[in-house]
Amino acid sequence: MASGGDGAEASGGRRVLVVGGGIAGLGAAQRLCRHPAAQHLRVLEATACAGGRIRSERRFGGVVEVGAHWIHGPSQGNPVFQLAAEYGLLGEKELSKENQLVETGGHVGLPSVCCTSSGARVSLELVAEMASLFYGLIDQTREFLHATETPVPSVGEYLKKEISQQVTGWTENEETRKLKLAILNTFFHVECCLSGTHSMDLVALAPFGEYTVLPGLDCTFSGGYQELTNCIMASLPKDVMIFNRPVKTIHWNGSFREGTFPGETFPVLVECEDGSRLPAHHVIVTVPLGFLKEQQNTFFDPPLPAEKAEAIRKIGFGTNNKIFLEFEEPFWEPDCQLIQVVWEDTSPLQDTAPSMQDAWFKKLIGFLVLPPFGRSVHVLCGFIAGLESEFMETLSDEEVLLSLTQVLRRVTGNPQLPAPKSVLRSCWHSAPYTRGSYSYVAVGSTGDDIDLLAQPLPVDDSSTQLQILFAGEATHRTFYSTTHGALLSGWREADRLIGLWDLQSQQPRPRL
Ligand SMILES: Cc1cc2nc3c(=O)[nH]c(=O)nc-3n(C[C@H](O)[C@H](O)[C@H](O)COP(=O)(O)OP(=O)(O)OC[C@H]3O[C@@H](n4cnc5c(N)ncnc54)[C@H](O)[C@@H]3O)c2cc1C
Repeated sequence: MASGGDGAEASGGRRVLVVGGGIAGLGAAQRLCRHPAAQHLRVLEATACAGGRIRSERRFGGVVEVGAHWIHGPSQGNPVFQLAAEYGLLGEKELSKENQLVETGGHVGLPSVCCTSSGARVSLELVAEMASLFYGLIDQTREFLHATETPVPSVGEYLKKEISQQVTGWTENEETRKLKLAILNTFFHVECCLSGTHSMDLVALAPFGEYTVLPGLDCTFSGGYQELTNCIMASLPKDVMIFNRPVKTIHWNGSFREGTFPGETFPVLVECEDGSRLPAHHVIVTVPLGFLKEQQNTFFDPPLPAEKAEAIRKIGFGTNNKIFLEFEEPFWEPDCQLIQVVWEDTSPLQDTAPSMQDAWFKKLIGFLVLPPFGRSVHVLCGFIAGLESEFMETLSDEEVLLSLTQVLRRVTGNPQLPAPKSVLRSCWHSAPYTRGSYSYVAVGSTGDDIDLLAQPLPVDDSSTQLQILFAGEATHRTFYSTTHGALLSGWREADRLIGLWDLQSQQPRPRL
């Protein structure tokens, strides 16, 4: 690629701007910069670093993932796995054939321990029985894929309907039946974390099965997920990335002139928050759906076609956050990997709306035990989704630490349990350039809305093709909400542009 400073290259090549330096934007840029037609390529990133929702932070003497945690389905069909392997970022176990062949169905593994809110241990057999019921029903939702009619609109309502039928056949005593429902309630909350939603009642039943799970036992990056985006970034020519450059408005369908390119006109002009105006032939938008939902009215000029604007409104985008707690001494067993928390007297079959202040932490599903960072650094990672998660973002670190200390004292039955030494949490809903965690297919939307979102602009106008292209996790119909979906979407849009250029280069140039 012949790349100069901002606007210093010869005319005739295509000026491409990528908005957003997450894995979708970086993936698109990596693909494009190898093409001779992309003479000027820039990635405009609003924040000070690349990676977006892939964010690894050096804390507690180790690395923690504030955003993406696992490669979901690490096997040959997963481009994130392949790229990570190419860059040498994965260990022997992660690369092993056995690991790649494991079929999890996308379900979370069983906990090492399960504790109730009154400090009792729940038998793991009972947890396994409830997991099997719950995930059996989740798998059953695939029956409705492409169905024109479903018995109920949402996954949540379907699960509850089936569970209430099952309950009538339960023969145990009242106490065990209540406990079983409380365990199931935790599984609903786990599923909310996976889907990035407040409630499974918001997730559409018919398209739910379109989300595709790849084989492979989910794995992590020992040096941090962000090593991957750092490697992609390092492969780009030096001046491609422009940081701290939030885009304010994308003016399109125009005929813009710019002083540095006398005699040239551009169909798109990107206006940044700092007042800079960058002309382009093509812009690939990779900003999160949460940002688009909030800003779409001012982000595009002219506004988006009604159908696309409607798709942005309809597709779901919710919050899943992590809360890391640091301890000097572990209170869990050395081989413990996952601590599940079950709130007694809760049930998925009962709608309760307790006050956020008093009960937000009841949405927490439990804690993942991170590998120890040192002899006296032990870290738990809690997961919490939905409105409770967004409420948690409004609290101070001290308030979160205090609430979770109380939770841990309750579930361990040890009122003297030392408080965690420190806390770190993600706040994805408050992040101005993200506004949530990831997308899901909400009631009232289908996979067609995802395809509509992914469609370039202008629609059906061959003379002014591919002015604005759309990538990002929310634009991938079967792998939405994942890093591999995001990467594939970036590649898809880069290939779309390259296809156009290759076609144009084969056509005879008009004689002047
Ligand atoms: C808590 C959490 C856990 C997750 N866990 C996993 C997991 O385990 N496995 C998995 O596969 N996926 C996981 N994900 C999802 C995964 O992180 C995302 O799907 C993926 O990283 C999205 O990549 P993207 O490039 O589409 O968007 P992003 O990474 O969000 O990149 C978009 C970029 O656009 C920038 N931007 C926004 N607005 C502007 C603007 N106006 N101007 C310029 N730049 C702008 C943003 O700053 C950002 O850098 C998780 C996400 C979260 C939040």
